[in-house]
Amino acid sequence: MTTAIFTHPDFLAHDTGPGHPERPERIAVVWEVLDRDEFRGLPRHEAPEAEVEQLRWVHDPAYVDAVLSAVPDNGHVRLDADTVLSPTSRSAILRAAGAVCAAVDAVLDGTAKNAFCAVRPCGHHAEPARAMGFCVFNNVAVGAEHARKRRGLTRVAVVDYDVHHGNGTQAMFWDDADLFFASTHQSPLYPGTGSMRETGVADNIVNAPLPPNAGTVEFRQAMERRILPALEEFQPELILISAGFDAHTRDPLASLNFTGADFEWATRKLVEAANRLCGGRVVSVLEGGYDTLGLAEGCAAHLQALMRA
Ligand SMILES: [Zn+2]
Repeated sequence: MTTAIFTHPDFLAHDTGPGHPERPERIAVVWEVLDRDEFRGLPRHEAPEAEVEQLRWVHDPAYVDAVLSAVPDNGHVRLDADTVLSPTSRSAILRAAGAVCAAVDAVLDGTAKNAFCAVRPCGHHAEPARAMGFCVFNNVAVGAEHARKRRGLTRVAVVDYDVHHGNGTQAMFWDDADLFFASTHQSPLYPGTGSMRETGVADNIVNAPLPPNAGTVEFRQAMERRILPALEEFQPELILISAGFDAHTRDPLASLNFTGADFEWATRKLVEAANRLCGGRVVSVLEGGYDTLGLAEGCAAHLQALMRA
């Protein structure tokens, strides 16, 4: 058993228009990493489309309908200032969420040791009734609910080390003591949420904001002192990772100074926690990462740690 990959050619077709940082090239860079000798043997699966019902577990039904009917026949449609749909987006937005559900199935069925979902668009900013920050549907939250509603799990954790706060996932998990969300992120930075005072209904939300220019030391302290102990206490049955690589020192959208070694370390720590807590069940989902070299370095380090689990 090894790390399974869930992706789909249509993620390249989600066209955000000229000059947009969340561009098709990003997924091509991840596929180039996956084609390297060390990763080429990993089993790859086509991401299925999520069902509308699955999206409605975390999004308002009217929002899901509005998004799907907003996909244009030509040109681009803006759902917010940064979030764009093109005629080819429908398959991508459905498969980005569907990938996580299929990966959860593979890990729970024991056909994969763990899984990485190479998807776009990202999802962690998408709120119950609002597209935000390149995100349309909240892929990782849909996967968490899939594990509970279709697979009988009760307690699911998401750890998010994207450089931006996962406001959407936090909003969806806030009121449910059986859902856990922990995030390291740069503050101040978009979207402006994620203070340490935001703790959810049962201390099930753990935010560890990092100041601009923070790097290895601050990140690892936040993980070791706050996030990993809280995760341990929560006792999840499954750990999902919102794996953004925009905290990499090269990233143009933020100013943290993570390296490939930091992504390897964090992934290893989460895998070790999963081995202790939940039979090693880890499903990772690509979020941000806007510098091609930083994205490639982060993804490769992340995959190496997943494979060594
Ligand atoms: Zn981000």
